[in-house]
Amino acid sequence: MLQLRRMEALLGKTEVELIEFARTLGEAPFRGKQLYKAIYQGRRLCFDDITELSKPLRERLKAVAEITATRIAKVFYSNDGTRRYLLQLGDGKEVEAVYIPEMRRDTICISCQVGCSVGCTFCMTAQLGLVRNMTAGEIVSQVVIVLNEVYGAGVSPPHGVNLVYMGMGESFLNYQEVMKSVRLLADDKGLSISPKRITVSTAGLTPRIADFAREEIRPRLAISLAATTQAERTTLIPINRKFTLDELIAACRDYPLSEREKLTFEYVCLDGINDSDEDAGRLARLLKGMRAKVNLIPHNPAPELPYRASPMERILSFQRILVDAGVPTFIRRPRGQDISAACGQLAARR
Ligand code: SF4
Repeated sequence: MLQLRRMEALLGKTEVELIEFARTLGEAPFRGKQLYKAIYQGRRLCFDDITELSKPLRERLKAVAEITATRIAKVFYSNDGTRRYLLQLGDGKEVEAVYIPEMRRDTICISCQVGCSVGCTFCMTAQLGLVRNMTAGEIVSQVVIVLNEVYGAGVSPPHGVNLVYMGMGESFLNYQEVMKSVRLLADDKGLSISPKRITVSTAGLTPRIADFAREEIRPRLAISLAATTQAERTTLIPINRKFTLDELIAACRDYPLSEREKLTFEYVCLDGINDSDEDAGRLARLLKGMRAKVNLIPHNPAPELPYRASPMERILSFQRILVDAGVPTFIRRPRGQDISAACGQLAARR
């Protein structure tokens, strides 16, 4: 029978919170700082590896806390180098993260919720419904665990790493924990991943786009668009009924981009549904004058999903129309398809 963990998890705490935690143990503030550095900068997940702390203190810590309850349940290795991680959280719930190696940079795709309530009809995660939000510590634990598994504990990725919040869940429905995780990931004294290398994705919760715009530490923003008319988008992304396409585009136009920043629009290509030349023309008009780029994502079919992938000639024609209209448009190469790690396929199924 699964044993529920009740230990206090330290990964997910800020430096101030770890100093306070040290104080509750009767320890000086610098012990909290040592813990913070060891956990985030050193990516040490076992108290025995934090040898700058005395052995008696490490034993006391083990009695009351753990660094993280997240464990690797299984790793799936793709022929193209992609790795899919099935991760078990402290309460036994499972989420997925994906490591995608590339020539010039590696990317880690992370989850922010167990399941998802948004119900996009082209996505496997939607089939789970929402189970629960993840904590900031659980979100960050995915990054630490994947980096350690790929490179070794504490070893920096040779080309740096990009993070994308495009795994399971809708980032803006778990806003506070997602933003806390971003601050922890970006902190210079910890993992030190530049916010410019972090992308948060949303299906389009417009009020949160305005909140996000005001964040002091703000990653790049990606919008999952998927359609160019109100009716079509509502069929594919049901929250579009409440947060309409017009409102979404208006919120994007108001978004205060920093120098050289662009909004990213993700557009999943579904055969015969949203991939016509007319759709491409409408998309070009929607984005006219906006500093934006489009990623076209070939759909990854699954027996549970009612769509086929658009033929590549169709996607190329779609891309041509956008590029001719001055919209930078890229076709996302599917990765990890043989291990169900590609976009829209994450469902924490073994
Ligand atoms: Fe949720 Fe994203 Fe899947 Fe939509 S695409 S159901 S927002 S995980």
